[in-house]
This record gives sequence, C-alpha cells and structure tokens, in this order.
Amino acid sequence: MSNTQIQKIVIVGGGTAGWISAAALAKLLPPSISVTLIESDSIATVGVGEATIPQIRRLNGMLGLNENTFLKATKGTIKLGIEFSNWGKIGESYLHTFGDVGLNLSNLQFHHYWKRAQEEGKQSSLWDYSLHHKVAYSNKFDRLERIGKTGMTGLSYAFHFDAGLYARFLRNFAETSGVTRIEGFVKQTVLNPHTGFIDHVKLENGTQIEGDLFIDCSGFRGLLIDKALGVSYQDWTHWLPCNRAIAVPSQSTRPLVPYTKSIAHTAGWQWCIPLQHRTGNGHVYSDQFMQDETALEVLLSNLDSTPIAEPNHIRFTTGRREKFWHKNCISIGLSSGFLEPLESTSIHLIQSNISRLIELLPTKKMEPANSNEYNRQVSKEYELIRDFIILHYHCTQREDSDFWRYCKNMDIPDSLKQKLELFSATGRIHKEPEDLFREASWVQVMIGQGLIPQSYHAMADRLSTDQLEKFLADIDAIIAQAEAQLPSHEDFLTRNCQL
Ligand code: FAD
Repeated sequence: MSNTQIQKIVIVGGGTAGWISAAALAKLLPPSISVTLIESDSIATVGVGEATIPQIRRLNGMLGLNENTFLKATKGTIKLGIEFSNWGKIGESYLHTFGDVGLNLSNLQFHHYWKRAQEEGKQSSLWDYSLHHKVAYSNKFDRLERIGKTGMTGLSYAFHFDAGLYARFLRNFAETSGVTRIEGFVKQTVLNPHTGFIDHVKLENGTQIEGDLFIDCSGFRGLLIDKALGVSYQDWTHWLPCNRAIAVPSQSTRPLVPYTKSIAHTAGWQWCIPLQHRTGNGHVYSDQFMQDETALEVLLSNLDSTPIAEPNHIRFTTGRREKFWHKNCISIGLSSGFLEPLESTSIHLIQSNISRLIELLPTKKMEPANSNEYNRQVSKEYELIRDFIILHYHCTQREDSDFWRYCKNMDIPDSLKQKLELFSATGRIHKEPEDLFREASWVQVMIGQGLIPQSYHAMADRLSTDQLEKFLADIDAIIAQAEAQLPSHEDFLTRNCQL
C-alpha cells in the first residue's frame, strides 16, 4: 500500500448522515482505512427524516441490504409518490409519482400527446394515464419491473420508515462491517497551525482522536465545517421562506396508503407519513408569516389520529454551505445545508455525497482538484433541487394569505425562470445532466400546480386522430389490467415483512 493513501477517517455525528456515511465507507473502502464515528448520547439526532425517493434502493443495493429485512427492521411502508393538496389551488390535489405517465412514443414525452388530445376536446386528466396513480389510490403494491411486452415500465418506489429505527439498523450494519463507534462529546476541534487542516478532535473526557480526513455529520451545529473552519452559509430564505417545523407522531391508521401526503396551509404545509406502527406528521412554516402557537394549533387540528408524543419544535435556515469540502473536512447531512423536506431529498443528498466522496477519495496530499470537483458537483445538485422545490411554492394560483402572495410574486432564480418559460410556451423541459428529478417529475408538478403548456410538439401530430384515440385507450387498458393483478399494500407488507 502506498504511504500517501489516507488511513484514518473520522466521522463526527451519529444521525442518519453519520451512519449512512460510516456504512458506505466501511463497505466500499479497504480494511487498511479505518473508520471511526463519534456521537454524543447527550445530543439527540434530529430524528425526522422518514420519507425517501427511489434512489434509496441504490444505497440499499450498494450496501447489500435485503429490502424485506430493511422494511421489517424500520417498520417501513412503500412510497409511490407524494400527494400535494391545496398547493396550486385550495381544494385541488395531484400526485407527484415516481413513475412515467403514459408511454413516450418516438422519443416524445407522453404529455405532448395528452395535450393534443385535450385540444381536440378529450376530457381527461394527465394522471388517468399513470399506473402509479391508479395503484396508489387503490392502496395496492407489489414489485413490478415492467408490464409484460408493452414497453411500459413498472412501479418505481421508495420507502417511508422510522428514522430512529433506520439509524439503529445502519449502526448495526456499520459496526458489523468494522466501524469503531466512540460515545463522547466533542469539545474542541484542533487545527494544524501551519496548514489550517483539522489535526484532531478532543472529547470532553480528554481523549484526542486524530484523522487524515474528517466528515462533519454533526447536524445543524456544523461543528467542524462551521464552528472550527468558519465556512459560511448561503441563505436561501428569500426563495424558500419556511424556517420552522413542528413534528408529532400519531396513532397508526388503516388502510396504509402507499404515498406521502403534503397539505398546504396558509403559511406552509403539513406532512403525513404512514408507517406500520404510527403516522409521522409535521407542519413546516415560516415564522415571518405565522406564530408558533398558531402553527401548533393548525398541526394538531389537522391530524388523522391521536398524537402519541409531545411535539418537537425544529428551527432551520434553508440554504447551503459555500463549500462542502474545505481543507480535510467534508460536511455531509444537515451540516452541509438544508432544503426543506417537501420532496424528501435530504437522505438522497447524504447518499449521493458519500458516493461522490468515495469516487473522489483524496490521498494524504489532499489534492485540491478532488475538493474542487466535489464542490462543483454538490453545488449544482443542490441548486437544481432548490429550483424544483421553489417551483411548488411559486407556481401557484393561491393568493389567500400574505405567505402565498409572497411566494407567487417573489423573484426566482433565472435557472427556474427559464424552465418555466420554456414549459409554458412549448411543453418542453430542459433537463440538465446533474438534475436528480426526471422530466416526468417536472411535468407532473408543473401541470399539477396548474401550469398547462400553450402548445405541444409537432411530432404528436404524426398520429392520426384514430391512432391517437387508440394509443390512449390502449394505455388505459394496460394500466387497468396491471393494477387489477396487484395485492393490497398491506398484503404485500404482511407477506414480505410480517406486518
Ligand atoms: P442529526 O440527526 O442532527 O445528527 C447529528 C449528530 O451529531 C447526532 O448524533 C449528535 O449526537 C452528533 N453531535 C452533534 N454535536 C456533537 C458533539 N459536540 N459531540 C459529539 N456528537 C455530536 N430527509 C429526508 O430525506 N426525508 C424526509 O422526510 C425528511 N424530513 C425532514 C423533516 C424536517 C422537519 C427536518 C428538519 C429534516 C428532514 N429531513 C428529511 C432531513 C433529515 O432528517 C436529515 O437529513 C437526516 O436526519 C440527517 O441528519 P444529520 O445526521 O445530518 O443530523
């Protein structure tokens, strides 16, 4: 082994970010690189990341986790998408599903055919052609890669799970894979006086822990990246004004729906996440537009079942670190930035960032080329997700409160402005390579929020009226047949993880 290879990685923090990072590093790096994780029992984890996106299945695959064991251990359920209610307009709702809608024909996205049919007088919703929509609202699920030889893809899914059980599950996996866990409170971060790199961290009991590379997973505290290295934070509150959340679990309800619910209120929104043993709920709001007491009342009066714990109040500032990797420190998780949980993207960012770090693993020389490339990629991914989340707030017809009037009329990033103009005029989406969200996601949210394109692509006119009619009828029939064969979501869970 070359003596320039790093030998010791130290992770500070044992929340979801710390344990995902530890598990991935221990699984993929050679045993010559030791991984130590420090966490303090006296500082609770944020404990609220309970909804995911389909990329989580890649993480499970990379770690070699069995999906049924994972679902059982975390009391998880299936997620096919997010139902957004009252976002575009009060009383309206739509489902942002993880799948395609309809079938793309001759490389042309399905919604162009749908739009043409609308113009020719057909009264149908875009979601009438979504398998995910049909399956989600019938409370059904099974693993389905594709639908026979129809060319239509099957069900793309993610999970809801108990954040505490998930962290325990990952910890067990990581420790079994060779990670050393140290319980202790990090009191001081000591820098090398010549280079400014982190030399070691000092615990309250005096123990010093040295490392070549430090991963800051200390949550909103940003113990290393902020407090020790002083990397500043880009505040995005002017685009994403929500800065408070109140979370409260409530009794489990049946049937277990296979999707997250997001209900817009007058100064934010409420989530509802069905788990096997309880429901996770929370109200995300802006304290500029609503008082904490009112926000709590709104949350408690909109629960589907009785609360089973005291409400947990959380403060945050949406935005990101100027640099995610500085000197020999990489911030992952909440210490790196925060985009509110509207599209459940935080856990994905943890996994994509740890994968990136493994790809760009430095030697002891800490080549700046690695950190520059890492910072470039992460900034881009953050900004694209940011735009997607702003879309939900800005593209609305709501003007019933100061909060919604602000969101509707606020200035938005140019990158999003261009996307909206292009889609509004032509129905086209310009998808950048780093964008986490697929074209089908952008289309569903734009149309769901009430933005209907003014025209469709001329290629949709290649079908005759009869062919178009048949094309749509065939999709309808294929979806109905596929859905009819699926078991209920609860039957799936009972069969696979003894619900
Ligand atoms: P934390 O969970 O805060 O962990 C920090 C760790 O650092 C703890 O172990 C603590 O003990 C340790 N620590 C701190 N200081 C010290 C010290 N001095 N010494 C030793 N140890 C220390 N994400 C999703 O993907 N889906 C969601 O649905 C979702 N919902 C969310 C809802 C809300 C309201 C919020 C705020 C976040 C949500 N997230 C969601 C984000 C998700 O919760 C986080 O990304 C995830 O939990 C990672 O947190 P973390 O590990 O970075 O920090």
